Amino acid sequence: MDLYEYQGKDLFRRHGIPVSEGRFATTPEEARRAAEELGGEVVVKAQVLIGGRGKAGGIKLAADPGEAERRAGEILGLDIRGHIVERLWIERASEIAKEYYLSVTFDRGARKPLLMFTTQGGVDIEQVAAESPDELARVHVDPLEGLEPHHVRELLASVADDGERRQIASILEQLYECFVAGDAMLCEINPLIVTPGGEVKALDAKVTIDDSALFRHPELSDLHDTSAADPLEAFAREKGVTYVKLDGSVGILGNGAGLSMSTVDVVVVAGGKPANFCDLGGGGSAKGVVDALEVISRDPQVRSILFNIFGGITRGDMVAEGILTALDQIDLDVPIVVRLDGTNAEEGRRILSESGRRDLWIEPTMLDAARRAVELAA
Ligand code: GDP
Ligand code: MN
Repeated sequence: MDLYEYQGKDLFRRHGIPVSEGRFATTPEEARRAAEELGGEVVVKAQVLIGGRGKAGGIKLAADPGEAERRAGEILGLDIRGHIVERLWIERASEIAKEYYLSVTFDRGARKPLLMFTTQGGVDIEQVAAESPDELARVHVDPLEGLEPHHVRELLASVADDGERRQIASILEQLYECFVAGDAMLCEINPLIVTPGGEVKALDAKVTIDDSALFRHPELSDLHDTSAADPLEAFAREKGVTYVKLDGSVGILGNGAGLSMSTVDVVVVAGGKPANFCDLGGGGSAKGVVDALEVISRDPQVRSILFNIFGGITRGDMVAEGILTALDQIDLDVPIVVRLDGTNAEEGRRILSESGRRDLWIEPTMLDAARRAVELAA
């Protein structure tokens, strides 16, 4: 789960990381009031879950409340690479002398948190990594030992000024704490600025929380913004269906994650492209099948659907009944290919073939079924 900048900054503030005082706003009027309360020059910042807002015109300075209101009017509704701006963060403007970069991320390859720092902040960090890798300090932290002074010294060796280094070291400690306590996958400050007076603070906040750990953070899951996620995936979540959108044309339904994933592979082997990955779980009840079909059929890219069911505890005849009930309940205009094996599979296949439905194909093996589904999707 990605946090918006204003949420990330709230988290930072609670961990003692210096950030500018600000207000949340969703209308130009609220932006004006926020600027009045804050006093002086402010910066109006688009809150969208995508970077590069500055370049896209989503971040503007405003000298007074009237200008803040006008800037807010310009930024609200802006389309930043597919993200429409509906929220704003208004904060007291900072004077910038230097822009640095500081982050803690999880390096899956090394199975350790990775600290990164460069004095070349403010710009795209991938660009720094590609063009001047020597300028980007990288230090791994053993997750069991935690952050130690030698990590900090090594990471911040390029900072010449003692006062700056002390402040950044303390911010790093707080950021690492924030990363661990929040079960984050990423805590990034870009830019970490130094003001003309030599004060260091976080001007931006990018935080990603590990979804699997959200249950430990009820305070954060409230922030979950389903509107920003794929609408189909959000619909699936509502229905309790495990669904991952892919970009091909064959819709896939299996019972069990392993079978569903191998079905994805077999469709590729058969020369097709999966439109999704959908796991019915252990059940095969009519309700479960209806829900899953409803999710899949909402994807306009789906041209055929492949049902791959292996009956264990789930009985083949029950699944067959489930499929027929589902087809009665929803209007599908794509063909369905079924491969049914395991417990009561013969009975299930008989029920399906006796239904006489013309949009239903029954195939004996997984590969046959995949080939048929790919052919029908073509
Ligand atoms: P991003 O473009 O989405 O990464 O958004 P940032 O929050 O990093 O802001 C982008 C740029 O806007 C920063 O690198 C700054 O140059 C500028 N900016 C943001 N806040 C301020 C501010 O308070 N004062 C000034 N002068 N510039 C700011
Ligand atoms: Mn930034």
